[in-house]
Amino acid sequence: MALSLLDLPYPKTALEPYISSRTLEFHHGKHHSGYIANTNRLIGGTDLEKKSLETIIKETSGDASRIGIFNNAAQVWNHSFYWQCMKPNGGGSPRGMIKEKIDADFGSYDKFVEEFKTAAIGQFGSGWAWLILKNGNLEVIKTSNADTPFVHGLKPLLTVDVWEHAYYLDYQNKRPDYVSAFVDHLINWDFVNRCIG
Ligand code: MN
Repeated sequence: MALSLLDLPYPKTALEPYISSRTLEFHHGKHHSGYIANTNRLIGGTDLEKKSLETIIKETSGDASRIGIFNNAAQVWNHSFYWQCMKPNGGGSPRGMIKEKIDADFGSYDKFVEEFKTAAIGQFGSGWAWLILKNGNLEVIKTSNADTPFVHGLKPLLTVDVWEHAYYLDYQNKRPDYVSAFVDHLINWDFVNRCIG
């Protein structure tokens, strides 16, 4: 079954002024859509054609001969996850289970923010910063290019895309401003709470 592009979970204007409709138009309509088209083209006629996206990613991870499939398929997954990590009027201090867990594992929300921003800003080149669960504990990690935590046995709870295409139209070279806007105004903590549950 071919992969298809799902609609964003909000209108393209919903994240303004922090992420513009123009950015979402390209990011969802061209980049994410392009990863889906590439994956479908590359798995066509192979043993992966009928498998789920997660299985395709797991089976091609670390396989140099299928790096192209892994890169595109993992980017499909990462973007679908990233869209859900944001919502209008999001961000700021979390509530619910994730708040208690952040306080327990990082010491405070501010400490979490410091680690998350450092990872997102410090990722050299293209990639992602994540909040993940490792053996039941929260950790902040970063991944390069298309790499994704679940192939390493880590449970993703939150991600920010730090490929330049995620922010260049709105912030140009100012990645720290994009990351701050994401943290302060966009994080969908309800989604994070659903992931942790
Ligand atoms: Mn992206």
